[in-house]
Amino acid sequence: MKRQLVFPLMFGALLVCSGCGNRNLDGPGLVKISSRVYAMIAKGPTAPDGLGANSGFVVGRDGVLVIDARYTPALANDLVGAIRSVTNAPIKYLVLTHYHPDHAWGGMVFKEQGAVIMARPEARAALKQYSPAYLEYYKERSKDTYEMLKDIRIALSDSEIADGEEIDLGGVKVVLRCLGPAHTAGDCVVIVPGDKVAFVGGLLSNGYHPNLGDPGADFDNWIRTLDRLDGMSLEHIVPGQGKICGREALETEKNYIETIRSQCEQDIRQMVPLEKAASSIVVPGSESYLQPNILPFNVRAVYRREIMGVVQGGFALDLPPEFQIVDGGGSAELGFTLWASSSKNESMEIDVQWKSAPGVEVLAQDVVDMVKHYVEVGKYEMTVDGSNRIDVGGEKTFASYGSWKYKKSSGIGGEGIWTWALLSRGGKIYSIRLFADAGLDAAKEKADMIRLRKIASTFRITPRAS
Ligand SMILES: [Zn+2]
Repeated sequence: MKRQLVFPLMFGALLVCSGCGNRNLDGPGLVKISSRVYAMIAKGPTAPDGLGANSGFVVGRDGVLVIDARYTPALANDLVGAIRSVTNAPIKYLVLTHYHPDHAWGGMVFKEQGAVIMARPEARAALKQYSPAYLEYYKERSKDTYEMLKDIRIALSDSEIADGEEIDLGGVKVVLRCLGPAHTAGDCVVIVPGDKVAFVGGLLSNGYHPNLGDPGADFDNWIRTLDRLDGMSLEHIVPGQGKICGREALETEKNYIETIRSQCEQDIRQMVPLEKAASSIVVPGSESYLQPNILPFNVRAVYRREIMGVVQGGFALDLPPEFQIVDGGGSAELGFTLWASSSKNESMEIDVQWKSAPGVEVLAQDVVDMVKHYVEVGKYEMTVDGSNRIDVGGEKTFASYGSWKYKKSSGIGGEGIWTWALLSRGGKIYSIRLFADAGLDAAKEKADMIRLRKIASTFRITPRAS
């Protein structure tokens, strides 16, 4: 019996060690990868530990190049201390792999050290645009985190990175690669070719759930980028989070992204509601990853991103940026998509459903019948105040309008006004439901409905993808 237990454990230990060479590169803390390349591996995923974000530095005869600034000024100062434990050379450059706070917000400390801050223009723009909102979010979410960050001055980059740019630090060359939008719109990889080391920022997380939720993320190019990194001559990769690894971790990351994408695609086709998908999709192998709360967040982000491509509803709408796709599913024959815009004082919804029905004409009564059915099966009570024809894609189409409120049994509060249009286009019946709720402000609610109808008027059939 004993022997059976011993063998699997031994094999397990062998497998774990095969990728990490002889030196101890695990961290946490300062890890010497070569005589001139160092990584600062974060202790853990908590805010005081910098949310798990790694950084590093390269030491040349003439100066030091730092990769990523860490999350807070305190953590950035720790990194400066670590640099000073190794060299007195001036800190000449700070390169940001991307704009996320855990990698960029310590920037002011390096600015004070006289470093030139380098980033992709997209990273600079995003740091400027999103940082105030992030800070506001932390203020509401976590007093402790806010306390650590409240005196932060966001240091924007002074210099744009171009792909292939080389920096000579004196006896050591650093190459900056921009391989296109992946984890964010402005990613950058820092390579020390002489030592076969790459700092890849958020492109790779090792033992942590990666973050797939950035609005600038590009999953197709992310996969391509991981493949390109795999094709490079690299021995040590410093991931954005987690331990230093070899190229094998690139494949694991690729599998993670591809698994979530294919699971989401499957659930979208089967019209599994987004929230159900968010609580049920798993990525085999990621069970022990840190920051497990990122997984449902990732599923929501990927799900929303993939909906339109999967359902092939055959239509388009001109949606203002505050309207986000929040759910959807089905196929070209039968499906739905739901967009919403909500703030403290108002919420608006646009729901488009379609059904393949070649040659079927829509009648005025169909709209009223549809609303009746919706009341029977759904969570709303609705009054029909009238019917008319509204402009949808340049054609007048049957619509009804009225007011709605949640059924008592739903346990949700809220009421507002609605418009519902039904039309036959391109061999399908489309239903376009518009809901507005501006609390007690009836004038605002009416204005919102006019806005919603204007968006509905942009509805158009798109050419079929071949
Ligand atoms: Zn990131």
